[in-house]
Amino acid sequence: MQTTPEAIRPVARPAVRATAPRAAQQPDWPDRAQLRRVTERLRGLPGLVRPEDTARLRDRLAAAAHGRALLLQGGHCAETFGADALGQVPAVVATVRRTAGIIARGAALPVLPVGRMAGQYAKPRSRPTEVRDGYELPSYRGDAVNGTAFTAQDRTPDPWRMATAYHHSAQTLRTIAAQEPGQAGDEEPFHVSHEALLLDYERALVRADPATGRRYAASGHMLWIGERTRRPDGAHVAFAAGVENPVGVKIGPDATADELLALAGVLDPDRRPGRLVFITRMGADRIRHVLPELVSKVHASGSPALWVCDPMHGNTRVTDDGIKTRWVRDIAAEVQAFVEIHRELGTHPGGLHLELTGADVTECVGGSEPVRTADLDRNYTTACDPRLNRGQALDLAFLAAHLWGK
Ligand code: PEP
Ligand code: MN
Repeated sequence: MQTTPEAIRPVARPAVRATAPRAAQQPDWPDRAQLRRVTERLRGLPGLVRPEDTARLRDRLAAAAHGRALLLQGGHCAETFGADALGQVPAVVATVRRTAGIIARGAALPVLPVGRMAGQYAKPRSRPTEVRDGYELPSYRGDAVNGTAFTAQDRTPDPWRMATAYHHSAQTLRTIAAQEPGQAGDEEPFHVSHEALLLDYERALVRADPATGRRYAASGHMLWIGERTRRPDGAHVAFAAGVENPVGVKIGPDATADELLALAGVLDPDRRPGRLVFITRMGADRIRHVLPELVSKVHASGSPALWVCDPMHGNTRVTDDGIKTRWVRDIAAEVQAFVEIHRELGTHPGGLHLELTGADVTECVGGSEPVRTADLDRNYTTACDPRLNRGQALDLAFLAAHLWGK
């Protein structure tokens, strides 16, 4: 018999772990005292969005889950700080709205416009450090954590950046609100979303709704959990389980149906339409092999989750010159497969999640006014992943209008 300490002196062990495993993808904050000061400051600030607006989005998403509306999420991969970024807000909102309008007419369904905006300042990374010319520094993790310049000073995580993220989000929301009266004739209000990655920030911005006592993430209307942080027993899922907001989960090609069922069990135990959104990002080459089984098993379980297609993150390529790009052709192919799979299964293809901008950037290849590989460095300005330019986004909108209209 093994004489482990447990075997000699049995102790009662809890059936489940008392604490979730260490949160993935968190910055290595160098100064914990500063971190505490920032989070205290954030806790004392008003929520960025109102619980009633978040509840309204959830109601609209419930209609989408019943097949009576579509969701369109769109915006930068990573928002950045500064006047330039604020200046771009109206054009990004206009592109999201225009794209939503085109799809709505083709699909003959309302399309809910939701920005990847006013909080999209933190990025998960596949590697914790980056090496250039023999020097190794922490990877850029979004403006809420560190800076893009390849210097030790910029790349050192600074918790005060989370306070800047809060104020920048507030200014972005004011800019959006100022633009809204100009949207007469479109009754769908504009909502905002971001990846709930930085738990120090998100936890400090949870607020109770004075009217109902329910706990909301007040950092944005809709939050999502990324492909790298979606363990059903992980800290990000535990955080999202404790708030009322609509919550998305990114689902990559290696996900299993059991994982999705576990996520649905933790995040939407009461099976309330409008609460849970699975945002699938499989890649054009894999979607037909992996998505049908996931959708049919989750659907058969009785989960009312909304299914949305992110055709960006499974289709990233690197050119021979080392430039990260995406081909509009791959993006279109994934959207088409997504709609066809749902039609074949009799489930609702619930919308799109896009990285786009209102400007004439040259980051993705293709489109009706094509960007060629050789054009990529002309106006490549993203802080992280390549985005559709305005024309490419509208191309995709017309394709989506056609696919959903069939
Ligand atoms: C993103 O949306 O920018 C992102 C990192 O996505 P994913 O978690 O799907 O990789
Ligand atoms: Mn991205």
